[in-house]
Amino acid sequence: MNRYSAHDKKVKILATLGPAIQSENDVRALVINGANLFRLNFSHGDHQDHAERLNWVRNVEQELGTSLGVLMDLQGPKLRIGSFTDGPIMLVKGQRFYLDLDSTPGDNTRVNLPHPEIIQALEEQMELLLDDGKIRLRVTAKNGTSIRTEVLVGGELSERKGVNVPEAVLNLSPLTTKDRRDLSFGLELGVDWVALSFVQRPEDIIEARKLIQGKACLMSKIEKPSAVEHLDRIVELSDAIMVARGDLGVELPAETIPAIQKQIIQTCRHNGKPVVVATQMLESMRFTPAPTRAEVTDVANAVYEGADAVMLSAETASGAFPTESVSMMSKIIRNIESDPGYQAHLDVNRPVPNATVEDAISCAIRRVSGILDVAVLINFTNSGATGLRAARERPKAPILNLTPNLSTARKLTLAWGIYSVVSPEFAQPIEITPTALDEAKRLNMASPGDRVVITAGIPFDQPGSTNLLRIETVL
Ligand code: PGA
Ligand code: MN
Repeated sequence: MNRYSAHDKKVKILATLGPAIQSENDVRALVINGANLFRLNFSHGDHQDHAERLNWVRNVEQELGTSLGVLMDLQGPKLRIGSFTDGPIMLVKGQRFYLDLDSTPGDNTRVNLPHPEIIQALEEQMELLLDDGKIRLRVTAKNGTSIRTEVLVGGELSERKGVNVPEAVLNLSPLTTKDRRDLSFGLELGVDWVALSFVQRPEDIIEARKLIQGKACLMSKIEKPSAVEHLDRIVELSDAIMVARGDLGVELPAETIPAIQKQIIQTCRHNGKPVVVATQMLESMRFTPAPTRAEVTDVANAVYEGADAVMLSAETASGAFPTESVSMMSKIIRNIESDPGYQAHLDVNRPVPNATVEDAISCAIRRVSGILDVAVLINFTNSGATGLRAARERPKAPILNLTPNLSTARKLTLAWGIYSVVSPEFAQPIEITPTALDEAKRLNMASPGDRVVITAGIPFDQPGSTNLLRIETVL
């Protein structure tokens, strides 16, 4: 337990909780191996499951004395087929298959598609993709309540599988009735982040913000072609972004995803908004204790590109090796971060500072930590905004945020390089230097003789007033 150190890597790990994580002990094992925040996936499980998992995270947070964030991921308007009378069916290339509004269980000639708006929006020759694109159907005829398709690519199809219709523009709200119920439950539980699925346009975020009412931060998942089209505005309106490669890679050709991932990361870094790369990062570890070389390289590339966090989905939620997956991800991250080429990669794409005092100070601490050997950058912050501006610079040293706000600390678990300590005292006019040095020593982020950089806004109670930069040596 003593060996646990939250700040031995800058890129964060977002781990999804699910049936593979059965207890507080399981959550603790994930944290000790490097998980920084957790996703509750509201596409699966009931409210009681999620409440229990959140509780485990809060207990482990207390016990280990480290901040842990919780993200609720809303299912969004994910389209699904209905069920089958006799279990999974087999679709054969060239056969006819109907999708209709009839809610009775289907067979190998038809299945329920309980979404009149898709049946409406589909036209002849358009394609439907089932089960993450594994099965492809082409519409050959339609009427008001059903569509006839021809199977282009067949395979086994089981109930409730997802349906994507990339060519059709769907007139759907980003929040279904289920999402609204889930959201009010999650906000009541006190989640730190809300992820919005299948965002199509900037207005979707404005609508969600109204419902969230500032009780949590908002992450937009980029998984629709139209979200990529409106990327700049969506990034501006969101607190963070997820590169949701699972659905994005179904809606758009898989070979276009790497370039889009780079574009999204770059846009987020420019705006100083945390960005998470998600889905299939260590997919094979669902079943085997070691990843493929290609998966290791995928995680490494996301780190080189400057992502704030990388995500594990089924690997931790339902896989056979959840702890090993987190541990492997940590090892990859630490290896890349110790490559001298990593900082060079980050610097090439470094965004230009805005003409503000905050950015001037953030830029200065990056320079200072490049010239001097600095152990830690210590920042006193209320909202976390200055911490995010400092992280935007991707400085060489880790950032220690001292904050009176628990919600700030939890929110920033997503952000590159930031570790937070909460104390109500940081809201008082304390002596900055001794407090900063004591905290850095206590957390083993600096030892006697080390240089540290301290930033703060004086007076303390004025938000956005960062105006002080001090270089100190730990005694
Ligand atoms: P999901 O989102 O796991 O909720 O589908 C991530 C993705 O689509 O990549
Ligand atoms: Mn998705």
